[in-house]
Amino acid sequence: MFDLQDKLALVTGASRGLGFEMARGLYQAGARVILHGRDRAALEAAAAALDPSGERVHPWCMDLADLNGFEASVESLLAAHGPVGILVNNAGVRARGKLEDLPLTDVQGLINVDLIAPLHLSRLVARHMQPGGRIINITSIAGMIARSGDAAYTAAKGGLAGLTKALAAELGERGITVNAVAPGFFATEANAEMVADETLNAWLGKRTSLGRWGEPREIAGAVVFLASPAASYITGHLLPVDGGYLSHF
Ligand code: NAP
Repeated sequence: MFDLQDKLALVTGASRGLGFEMARGLYQAGARVILHGRDRAALEAAAAALDPSGERVHPWCMDLADLNGFEASVESLLAAHGPVGILVNNAGVRARGKLEDLPLTDVQGLINVDLIAPLHLSRLVARHMQPGGRIINITSIAGMIARSGDAAYTAAKGGLAGLTKALAAELGERGITVNAVAPGFFATEANAEMVADETLNAWLGKRTSLGRWGEPREIAGAVVFLASPAASYITGHLLPVDGGYLSHF
């Protein structure tokens, strides 16, 4: 039910953090995996850590902010490896700051990487996708609920959740499912400062049902599930992986 042998997966932003753990989960379920990011050295190190033989993991360097430049790069990737069966739009950036203080170029830059790039990459990859294909968008609980100082990110992730439903509606007739995973608080390297903050830890301990941060490896199961034959009749769905954050008060 969860076997991904003979599948080719592409995970964006997979050099570290949650993307790397998603790639590891897909690899362990049997898939060949393309690891994407911007930093070639980091990608090659991550690929070697996952698959020292280099047979089933392939690094791919490309800047998602270069919206006009990445079509050719995608086409040559697909020509080299064949059609992608599982696309995970994971790469994302954040720009915290009060809306009135956030420069418009920062807002546009974030929306380009977190929303427009997944839209554009999805359609380029979907052109070649076979029936049974999967697109999984990584949103955030911050796309469903909001706090002050995070407007651009919340708008982009809320937009990505909407895009998930729109793509599901459009690609369903071709047998392709499109779903989203919304992580809560995960103890990634990028969050190291917050993880070390005792006041925040005490608050999170009370604010979530499970009373703790998520370990990065705990994101992988949801992605493998949505990519697998077990999820063949699930589409347009958003699955929070948040230790109960959204259901708890
Ligand atoms: P991360 O550790 O900051 O990693 C981000 C990845 O995205 C890196 O591999 C980075 O690679 C890549 N990336 C960033 N900008 C890029 C660009 N312009 N072009 C290509 N690649 C780019 O992030 P994370 O914490 O694992 O989060 C992963 C996803 O989950 C994001 O979408 C994030 O919004 C979402 N999320 C995370 C949490 C959490 O608690 N961590 C919570 C909710 C949602 P390079 O630096 O090598 O380019």
